[in-house]
Amino acid sequence: MSTIADNISRVIARIEAAAQACGRAPATIGLLAVSKTKPAEAVREAFAAGVRDVGENYLQEALEKQTQLTDLALTWHFIGPIQSNKTRAIAEHFDWVHSVDRLKIAQRLAEQRPEGLAPLNICIQVNVSGEASKSGCAPAELEALAQAISALPRLKLRGLMAIPEPTDDPDAQEAAFASVRILQERLSLPLDTLSMGMSHDLEAAIAQGATWVRIGTALFGARDYGQA
Ligand SMILES: *Cc1c(COP(=O)(O)O)cnc(C)c1O
Repeated sequence: MSTIADNISRVIARIEAAAQACGRAPATIGLLAVSKTKPAEAVREAFAAGVRDVGENYLQEALEKQTQLTDLALTWHFIGPIQSNKTRAIAEHFDWVHSVDRLKIAQRLAEQRPEGLAPLNICIQVNVSGEASKSGCAPAELEALAQAISALPRLKLRGLMAIPEPTDDPDAQEAAFASVRILQERLSLPLDTLSMGMSHDLEAAIAQGATWVRIGTALFGARDYGQA
């Protein structure tokens, strides 16, 4: 069985090869380790192997892991669907939120981000798969949402996040990620982040400009939701 450290080496090699293939510097692509359903011990192992950024989808699970890992200098990213009643804890306990898809949530995060902390980094989740996806802002509504969020205090709008419909066809993967890149380029805002690419499609995402790849399975193994 391969260890988390072995998996990290393999994923970093994939990131480097993908960057090289399109002439990008590997250092411009961050590895976000997605640890949903995995124990704190797995995150600790990943940290020992060099991981510094962790992505979590479920608030309660994330908060429990955070209390077990306070000794590690980790940056925490919230990447799951956000209900209004969860915004306060997210604003208090995370450094990044990748999954903002409506103004009400951003407004609450801005109001609830503690003054003593750095601005909360925000990505707008955009839906580039149409009816195939329920979450994410519709492309037609993106400009207005981005302008409104960029005017809010205590938030720093960094860019876009997307989870395209899964496909094994590399051309279709790239086309979906290209549409995210183009949407970002059309926004008249100084954005520096594209959060896109997961275990099965990180190469296509990097070819289209990803600056965070969010990797779960390829680092921690398959998830067993039955045990959750
Ligand atoms: C689970 C998840 C990931 C990681 O997916 P893998 O296919 O396991 O790499 C990335 N992003 C989001 C938003 C997720 O929910």
